[in-house]
Amino acid sequence: MFCQHCGKNLDDGAVICVHCGAIVDEAELVSEEAQQKESQTNAYASLGLIFGCIPFLFFLGLIYSIRGLLFAKRTKIGMKKAVVGLVLSSFFTVVILTTVVLFFSPIYL
Ligand SMILES: [Zn+2]
Repeated sequence: MFCQHCGKNLDDGAVICVHCGAIVDEAELVSEEAQQKESQTNAYASLGLIFGCIPFLFFLGLIYSIRGLLFAKRTKIGMKKAVVGLVLSSFFTVVILTTVVLFFSPIYL
């Protein structure tokens, strides 16, 4: 990292600049990082949620929700969205597959 006052290179975790003696404002660096994280979104989870709401696109919803869940596991972003998308698309998968199986099952023949 660099001193905000004199711009010289500092050791990570330095509290006071060894070149100019200025106090290094760690809080500012941390909040910037947090802002960057907040502005990042889990696109996979969003897509999974959208597709999960559309019964005939449940398969896409399932795929994107799983990808979103993996992304959320790594980045801790959009975990809730990914879980909701996965639940919704799983629900539609079960409903549609059950309907298809019942429709083609020999009982109705
Ligand atoms: Zn300095």
